[in-house]
Amino acid sequence: MNCYCGTNKTYQECCEVFHRNNGKTDTAEQLMRSRYSAFVLANGDYLMTTHHKSTRPKKEKKAIVKWAKSVQWIKLEVLDTSKGSKDDIEGTVTFKAYFFENGNVDVIHEKSAFVKENEQWFYLGLSR
Ligand SMILES: [Zn+2]
Repeated sequence: MNCYCGTNKTYQECCEVFHRNNGKTDTAEQLMRSRYSAFVLANGDYLMTTHHKSTRPKKEKKAIVKWAKSVQWIKLEVLDTSKGSKDDIEGTVTFKAYFFENGNVDVIHEKSAFVKENEQWFYLGLSR
């Protein structure tokens, strides 16, 4: 079975590596993908750890986990990336995340901003 994030690797070879190392990814896209997989698995700790501390929604953690469990995740499509490579300190990833909620297909279409601090990527929020 392919990883939840849609690569042709298994979960063990792909996002689980990052779920076990607290999100030490090489690229912003890898972090984004691993965060999608964390939504699928309702891994609230990982979603908080990989969210930059300046924008981390700590108070919403329970609600996020509850919501992530309540929907049925379908797939992730990464549409575009800018910077976010090993040698960058910022980057964006544009994606679509599809899920069923209350019997309907819904989609999150977002351009996300990422920053690197102490050699680690973090999700900052919507890119402006
Ligand atoms: Zn993955």
